[in-house]
Amino acid sequence: MAMRMEEDEELSFETSKGVKVVTSFDNMGLKEELLRGLYAYGFEKPSAIQQRAVLPIVMGRDVIAQAQSGTGKSALIAITTCQTMDITLRESVQCINFIYSAHSGEDIRKLENGVHAVSGTPGRVFDMIKRKTLRTRHIKTLILDEADEMLAKNFKDQIYDIYRYLPPECQVVIVSATLPTEVLEITQKFMTDPIRVLVKRDELTLEGIKQFFVAVEREEWKFDTLCDLYDTLTITQAVIFCNTKRKVDWLTEKMRQNNFTVASMHGDMVQKERDAIMQEFRSGAARVLITTDVWARGLDVQQVSLVINYDLPNNRELYIHRIGRSGRFGRKGVSINFVKNDDIRILRDIEQYYSTQIDEMPMNVAELI
Ligand code: ADP
Ligand code: MG
Repeated sequence: MAMRMEEDEELSFETSKGVKVVTSFDNMGLKEELLRGLYAYGFEKPSAIQQRAVLPIVMGRDVIAQAQSGTGKSALIAITTCQTMDITLRESVQCINFIYSAHSGEDIRKLENGVHAVSGTPGRVFDMIKRKTLRTRHIKTLILDEADEMLAKNFKDQIYDIYRYLPPECQVVIVSATLPTEVLEITQKFMTDPIRVLVKRDELTLEGIKQFFVAVEREEWKFDTLCDLYDTLTITQAVIFCNTKRKVDWLTEKMRQNNFTVASMHGDMVQKERDAIMQEFRSGAARVLITTDVWARGLDVQQVSLVINYDLPNNRELYIHRIGRSGRFGRKGVSINFVKNDDIRILRDIEQYYSTQIDEMPMNVAELI
């Protein structure tokens, strides 16, 4: 299995001194309508990055916010943009997005009437600036979401071009999952005394989750190992991760042929079908779910206390998404990794990266669930 294990090129970076942690949306001084909207949308509590970065952004400071994907960074942008937008109560928020429309008459008309927010890829936005359809004199804030991704995609020149057109007092907010040198370069060139907010990876913890491995030596042995574990899987509920849709289909079929009851789900299924399977799983009617990483993010099924990595994930981040869903719900759990001989190195790498411990699976694993 090919593993993406690039060297860490992030430079060391720490949260600025004096950054306050505000653990509730109520205490952020947000507009009433925004607060209501957040709660109505199901946001009960700010995420770690939101707890630290909302206030400095709202106060108008230049901010660099860094946290792993899925930690609420884009939502942070949405929240702070809504808060700082200068709108009267009756006015509706006007936004424009240049992702799809290249240069349509409708966009131009909208811009001429005035909009509160403009979003788009750097190329499109710069194009609108060059054509003077988007006038920059009154722009208050420049926000770069996924700065690392944008720089990796060679948007550097366009970003620098846009920046040159902005008023000197423009606030700059940069959000990124990682901080490669190109991002730090931008922060040094564009930002004034920036506040740095870093949510370290260990805040997405593996704490409370016991992690084990089973040395299966060869691929063919994984299936028998899984069958041996079936009774353990059904103690509560279990999710089995495979790396490909084909493998999910194959394993599901093979388990069923051997009279094991399993549910399965992957990204090729239409949403309706996926919803039905999730419903079946949530209700407890299905106790074992075989899936790809479509399941790993976001979704949470409280009863799941066992995760099996039938295949080791293709990168470290997926590992934590598959099994590291603990902190938020304070749930305990067990994960079992099937490792072939040539996977051991990868497992050790994960172990080191997250400063965690993955022991050989004990005989009494069922008692730990
Ligand atoms: P990122 O940009 O860091 O990858 P997102 O902002 O896209 O993260 O958030 C990931 C998911 O979590 C989204 O579905 C988002 O709606 C949800 N989310 C973000 N912040 C909160 C919050 N405070 N409470 C509940 N859900 C949230
Ligand atoms: Mg995002």
